[in-house]
Amino acid sequence: MKKVILFAVAVVAVTGSVMIYRAATHFAASQPEPVMHRDGTIALDEDAAVQRFARALTFPTVSHDDRSRFDAEAFRAFHAYLQSAFPLVHEQASRTVVNGYSLVYRLEGSDPSLPPVLFMSHMDVVPVEENTREEWTHPPFAGVVEDGNVWGRGSLDDKIGVIALLEAMERRLAEGWRPQRPIYLAFGHDEEVGGMEGAQRVAEYFANQGVRFDFVLDEGGALTQGLLQDIGQPLAVIGISEKGYVNLVLTVNAPGGHSSQPPAQTALGILARAIVKVEESPFPARLDNLLPTLEAVGFAMPFSKRLALSNLWLLSPLVERSLLADKDAAAGIRTTTAATMASGSPKSNILPTRATAVVNFRILPGETVESVQQRVVDLIGDERVGVRAEYGIDPSPVSPTDSRGYRIVAGSIRALAPDALVAPYMVRGGTDARYFYELSPNVYRFLAVRIDADTMRQVHGIDEHVAIDDYLMAVRYYYSVMGQAAEP
Ligand SMILES: [Zn+2]
Repeated sequence: MKKVILFAVAVVAVTGSVMIYRAATHFAASQPEPVMHRDGTIALDEDAAVQRFARALTFPTVSHDDRSRFDAEAFRAFHAYLQSAFPLVHEQASRTVVNGYSLVYRLEGSDPSLPPVLFMSHMDVVPVEENTREEWTHPPFAGVVEDGNVWGRGSLDDKIGVIALLEAMERRLAEGWRPQRPIYLAFGHDEEVGGMEGAQRVAEYFANQGVRFDFVLDEGGALTQGLLQDIGQPLAVIGISEKGYVNLVLTVNAPGGHSSQPPAQTALGILARAIVKVEESPFPARLDNLLPTLEAVGFAMPFSKRLALSNLWLLSPLVERSLLADKDAAAGIRTTTAATMASGSPKSNILPTRATAVVNFRILPGETVESVQQRVVDLIGDERVGVRAEYGIDPSPVSPTDSRGYRIVAGSIRALAPDALVAPYMVRGGTDARYFYELSPNVYRFLAVRIDADTMRQVHGIDEHVAIDDYLMAVRYYYSVMGQAAEP
């Protein structure tokens, strides 16, 4: 007996010291080297640049779910405005209009054998709900500059990207810049409704010419505050992957009839059981898409967190459980399930002949639209329930963090925001960048603006605005990245 106890004590002691040792040594304090392009000090007429940006917000280039409401005139006027505001870009880069409204610019490189780099953003914005118009501090399409801020729809998502990119290129051209590598800009016109008419067609346009990019940079990451509970300083997250998306339409057909002589189960009852089964068996949690983020910033976390994260061989169930308790964190480690729409009979005393529901899934990289659909069919296990995939997009591949592109983006962020930590992460929403994986393995998402819980609400909400300092930071960021990107 004594031997057994001694042995148990020894095991606990060894395991304990291994865990503590791992916690102490696992997370090296490694952050990317700050790198600014050597001519990184940018001579910018700040007031004029801010006015050019504010003016861009006055064009109502709105994307509606109902595509018949598309305002072609607003986009044409916006294109003309870009031409007048950024004359050097329009003089020295070639401009192609893709599918009527998306724009592609190409600036030649002195060494055309080098693979080009692509910078992306989108010109469209989400609508302003009529009943919220009154609540805006400044009208959403007035382009007001006040109190150190630029106000309006698109000031964060994502005209800031379009205008900051053009401003950065215009400044460089004014300085007589000649890139060695060809540089492309691409601005889609329907990102907010899926990008099928814009970015997807732009990607086809490149594919048809056999263009392959050294790297692609889009929106989708930002300088966040409070994103990870245990990280006090600002955290710059660079998107290296994004979740997929699918709506599964569940359908049950039945004979119908009058509700006074119902069967034991109506079509709606059968459907409801199916939804319950799907909800009650959420997708399994997986830490693999979160680990790159934690690996990059783990050293800055409290010891208790490091202890758990560096000993996942033993503690991953515990870590998963604590993350799943928070719905934001949960979305980072599992394919999410959300039943969103349902319909049955049109009248209270008629049995439904058809009941339908929509369940929306956001798919973790590593799974597919098909594997999600198969799992749902198996879970329901009822042939009376049809399961059809509608509007499905597979999750993206995961881009590497040791590429030239990642280093340039990360290094530029570190130079501009020395107080910030930089980490790769998985984007939960969708971006136009998803269409570009055939054209480059190195697809990144980062726009240099500060985002916190308040600003997150303004994106797609009321009072969207950005600090002038943040806008200027975005210009400097693109200026730096563009200069480094254009080198061999
Ligand atoms: Zn956007």
